[in-house]
Amino acid sequence: MAFKIIVCAKQVPDTNEIKIDPVTKTLVREGVPSILNHDDANALEEALKIKDMYPDTHITVITMGPPQAKNMLRECLAMGADDAVLASDRALGGSDTWATSNALAAACRKVGEYDLIFAGRQAIDGDTAQVGPQLAEKLGIPQVTYVTEFSIEDDRTHITVKRALEDGYELIKIKTPCMLTAIKELNSPRYMSIGGIYDAVRRDIPSWGAAELGVDPDKEVGLLASPTNVYRSFTPVPKGKGVTIEGESDKDIADKLIIALKAKHAI
Ligand SMILES: Cc1cc2nc3c(=O)[nH]c(=O)nc-3n(C[C@H](O)[C@H](O)[C@H](O)COP(=O)(O)OP(=O)(O)OC[C@H]3O[C@@H](n4cnc5c(N)ncnc54)[C@H](O)[C@@H]3O)c2cc1C
Repeated sequence: MAFKIIVCAKQVPDTNEIKIDPVTKTLVREGVPSILNHDDANALEEALKIKDMYPDTHITVITMGPPQAKNMLRECLAMGADDAVLASDRALGGSDTWATSNALAAACRKVGEYDLIFAGRQAIDGDTAQVGPQLAEKLGIPQVTYVTEFSIEDDRTHITVKRALEDGYELIKIKTPCMLTAIKELNSPRYMSIGGIYDAVRRDIPSWGAAELGVDPDKEVGLLASPTNVYRSFTPVPKGKGVTIEGESDKDIADKLIIALKAKHAI
């Protein structure tokens, strides 16, 4: 039986300087080129590596986003994914992570059976790292986050992963179906193939709205259903330039440092 993988991928602005609309408190996307989120490229690459090993693997990429997110989905198809689905609807706009994971969980259920769901650890714009774990919770499947190494047994009922911690690693064996979140150390994503690009531009990508997903815009998705309320957002003021203290000896430098710290009432 085919091994079915769903990869959750997000289209994100190609910038490290995220701007927030002061009125709506949402991300400003106008005029910023969009790309496939970095960790999600790692998630897709690992799925593709499984497909390289077991050609009966079927990979579906899901994204929730505006209609232009189809371009990113075509990129995923050109890398080697089998299918792509866009969850898109005005009713989904303004979703926080809770609402986003509701929409993605509904999309996963609509795709049907799955053995493995791969997400990135974190999106470079929203940056919360919450969506993958929330998705697993809502689908009632086990999860491992921060996956840095991956191996799968031939019967594909169990997966062994190495999970990065702040001060070490965990080696975890997990039963499928399960959800994993990828980090950049996991692999180096492949490029799109020429044949893949040729095929991907001709592919019809289905778009599912709230009705097709079976989600309630008042209670499950969208801005109104989102429990996160952005109270205030701001860019931190850059700190001033550092000061280099010079002197004739270490003692001289240390004395000057003490004088400077005392002058600032730091000591
Ligand atoms: C009040 C509020 C309003 C917001 N309004 C908007 C808005 O109008 N438009 C908007 O785009 N964002 C909006 N956001 C941001 C939005 O909630 C988050 O971008 C989104 O929920 C995903 O969270 P994240 O980016 O932190 O993802 P993370 O949790 O950091 O992502 C982890 C992984 O989950 C998967 N993932 C995350 N999001 C998606 C997705 N959309 N599709 C597929 N996979 C995904 C990816 O694999 C990703 O690597 C809003 C946030 C808040 C708090």
